[in-house]
Amino acid sequence: MVAKILDGTRVAARIRGEAGQIVRDVTARKGRPKLAGVLVGGAPAAKAYAASQQKQCELVGIDYQLCELPDCTTAKDLTARLGELNADPTVTGIIVQLPLPEGIDPAKVQLCIDPYKDVEGVNPVNIGMVFEGEPIIAPCTALAVMALVRESRVQIEGAEAVVVGHSRIVGKPVALMLVNELATVTTCHIATRDLAGHTRRAEILVVAVGKPALITADMVKPGAVVIDVGINRIRETGPDGEPRRRIVGDVDFEAVSQVAGFISPVPGGVGSVTTAMLLRNTAEAARQQIDAGRA
Ligand code: NAD
Repeated sequence: MVAKILDGTRVAARIRGEAGQIVRDVTARKGRPKLAGVLVGGAPAAKAYAASQQKQCELVGIDYQLCELPDCTTAKDLTARLGELNADPTVTGIIVQLPLPEGIDPAKVQLCIDPYKDVEGVNPVNIGMVFEGEPIIAPCTALAVMALVRESRVQIEGAEAVVVGHSRIVGKPVALMLVNELATVTTCHIATRDLAGHTRRAEILVVAVGKPALITADMVKPGAVVIDVGINRIRETGPDGEPRRRIVGDVDFEAVSQVAGFISPVPGGVGSVTTAMLLRNTAEAARQQIDAGRA
């Protein structure tokens, strides 16, 4: 069997289209949505990420305001800045770039973002709505995983699903979303004793760990839908004998492609869709604020 590729770029284009439609509706009713990106410290990678976010926002008609805070920012300073952004009626969405400096707990910071402006869906109120089965603004990566599972058109209801990884913003919400759609879900993690014994049963296998080639071909049920969330930067020797760097997922893509029915590549899979989900969440957050009479 050679797996069909679940093309993240195509799904992302569709999601961006949906975001654009919501933005047009919001803009007609109350003006353009505005995303505030909070960047603490000047790490070049975080700055580059914020710049790319700004570009993506502009493509669908969302304004972007970069709020840069110095390296020496304390948790109290950051909370105060978030309080200002929560109260600013021109700001409809807030995203805090991670990682934060040592000593600032991201989960506590995320708790301070107004749930209506929490475009990453990381505030416990929004995660709680996923638990209730009525998500409004859900975590972007979990939404991206579900969009790619749906892209396979495999029936989720009644399927055996295994999620490897139980992080707050990927593994746990994905498991909840699959349960909400009536899959039979097993969550595996670092303490799981027989990982392969679980993954081999999966008709839908989602892997969000951060370990290259954790999932090998012998761990996958023939025909399964395999969604690879991992992003790992590896060094290897290229075909020309020269050292090179490459981004890979958690799944041994070449080998697993011969067994699975569907597979999402890295790059070009979950990551691309996640970026588009952030735009749709940002647009949707602005619409929710209008509908709730808050804007
Ligand atoms: P995390 O780093 O918070 O947690 C890792 C999870 O993997 C934990 O649940 C841990 O118990 C589990 N784990 C570790 N070793 C394991 C093993 N040997 N067997 C089974 N489980 C094991 O996870 P995260 O923040 O969800 O990130 C996971 C990966 O997904 C990372 O590579 C990250 O870069 C990537 N990621 C990608 C996106 C995207 O948009 N594509 C978004 C978020 C995270």
